[in-house]
Amino acid sequence: MILPYLLRLLCLCLASFFVLNVAAGLLVCISSKSAIRFAESRTPKRAARLLVGLRLLPFALAVLFVLGLCVPSYLWLEPTATSERVGLMGGLLGLLGAATWLNALARTAQSLFASLRHNRLCRFAGQEARLPGESSPVVLVENEAPLLAMSGLFRPRLLISRSVLQNLSAAELGAALAHEHAHRTSRDNLKRLLIQLAPDILPFLHPLRTLERTWSQFAEWAADDQATEGDSGRAVALAAALVQVARMGRGPRLPFFSTSLLASDRDLSARVDRLLEKLPVMATPTAETPPALRTAGVLLVGCMAALLATPATLAAVHELLELLLH
Ligand SMILES: [Zn+2]
Repeated sequence: MILPYLLRLLCLCLASFFVLNVAAGLLVCISSKSAIRFAESRTPKRAARLLVGLRLLPFALAVLFVLGLCVPSYLWLEPTATSERVGLMGGLLGLLGAATWLNALARTAQSLFASLRHNRLCRFAGQEARLPGESSPVVLVENEAPLLAMSGLFRPRLLISRSVLQNLSAAELGAALAHEHAHRTSRDNLKRLLIQLAPDILPFLHPLRTLERTWSQFAEWAADDQATEGDSGRAVALAAALVQVARMGRGPRLPFFSTSLLASDRDLSARVDRLLEKLPVMATPTAETPPALRTAGVLLVGCMAALLATPATLAAVHELLELLLH
């Protein structure tokens, strides 16, 4: 029967995803303190990259294992439709895997709807405006609360309230806008999407939350560095913009797929001190990977995939999965 065959495959995928995600997630969790200490010794941009990579590593490894080894071994070694039973342990692991995925998908869908609704409301309530030096129009909102944010995933829009426009000087506004553009260049909202999509280790438990919060802090610092480009004058202007916006009161609650000038007051003094006391690191342009190196990388990954997908490997994986499900 086709349904039991496919259901068994689904159960196998969910169970093996869950086991690998837990194993890799626990390793990341245990090493997160050391990783954060190491990240603190790097530039904020590198630190942010390292931490977001670490947060997504268990998810990426588990997905690669399921799609690269688990599914091919099952299809290859059990091609005929069977109605083999799934043991209690296999069923339980499959259910836990399904719960972590459903939880991740539900929160992502909720954030997506909230983001779409918020951006639509801003467009209805506000108006498109051109700001000096801005290549694309911004959404200007008639709002007393301070709002300056880059909102949206694939084509993020800059949202700004008239109160922010009126209260910031030209230099402060330029530095604040550069901070938002840095978030867009780094695709921070897309990284937020991946973080939401990556299921937690256990349903409704977030042991990697510290890693996410630290990534968020480094992403803010990296945007500050990119906005100031090592120029002390711009650093002072950005620090002044941060203080001005903080003085204007609490900003509106923003959806998850938004990055703002002042994400939270908690980091405000650290950011201002950093901008005023230490000259921010000059944001160096990302070096282009030479084409030969890129080709070598693709070949290496291809060879590794070919080595892994040998009959012997697939048979061993199949044995393991049989143990898991029975
Ligand atoms: Zn920001």
